[in-house]
Amino acid sequence: MKRVSRGMAVYSFSSKHPPAEYVSPGEHVILELEDAFGGQVKDENALIEELDWSKVNGATGPIFVKDAKPGDTLVVNIEDIKVAERGVIAVIPRQGALGNKVSKACLSVVPIRGGYIQFERGVKVKANPMIGTIGVAPLLGDVPTGSLGKHGGNMDVKEVVAGSKLYFPVFVEGGLFAAGDLHAVQADGEVCVSSVEVSGEVLLSFDVLKGRCPSWPVLETKSNYAFLVCGDTLDEASVLATDAAVEALMREHKWSFEKAYMFASLVVDLKINQVVDPKKGVRAVIPKDSVSLESLFSAKR
Ligand code: CA
Repeated sequence: MKRVSRGMAVYSFSSKHPPAEYVSPGEHVILELEDAFGGQVKDENALIEELDWSKVNGATGPIFVKDAKPGDTLVVNIEDIKVAERGVIAVIPRQGALGNKVSKACLSVVPIRGGYIQFERGVKVKANPMIGTIGVAPLLGDVPTGSLGKHGGNMDVKEVVAGSKLYFPVFVEGGLFAAGDLHAVQADGEVCVSSVEVSGEVLLSFDVLKGRCPSWPVLETKSNYAFLVCGDTLDEASVLATDAAVEALMREHKWSFEKAYMFASLVVDLKINQVVDPKKGVRAVIPKDSVSLESLFSAKR
């Protein structure tokens, strides 16, 4: 099986990066991922101020998926996620939801064993490994892997776990997929700016849906679809997420805007992905019994 090492990291999503690997639809590939600190935090005495920030939030890739062309959808099947036995949680002044209350940077290195994160003696949290940064190259320019947009990126969606699927609009030939920023667990909001940042590896496979794509990345779980949306504020992200969901319901049921808007108020959940990056993330969750996959695609040719 193909394996892409953690040394093959990029720090932006961009069409300019040469592919680290070429895969065909249906083929499995393992990506080794460094933790979001680039492996620089060796212990709790490490100094946040002394980290090389050019090595932070790398993503392994890019992967060129054969047959993925602009206007198609790249389907990413997350088959398995394995995380290392230690993770790092960081609090940084002026960062996170309550950054102005943080008087000094601090780090916590936590063991991860038997499916649990040992937060403190006697306090453990069930692991639920997820991928924080995941996406494809945007149409134009270089988007840092710390940011997010219609191409995906640093979305920090806690449901991006093994067994989930993602659908990305393809902007450039091959898609140029990359992933990084593994978390052993993360809650919605990621309030303190970090989560349990951990290295590990992910087993993925890809498919390509030809000639149609969604307006935003879409997540599929067992029971739901969700548009993964971002904006400069949570208010803006909420508006954009609602709009994407209502448009999908209009396509599904051939409803007027007003009818679909009403129905969205009954079945669509808006959830916060993260509030700690320059762009805030919201997902509009639609139960599968209310919408089909095909109705999630806005652009068809
Ligand atoms: Ca992140």
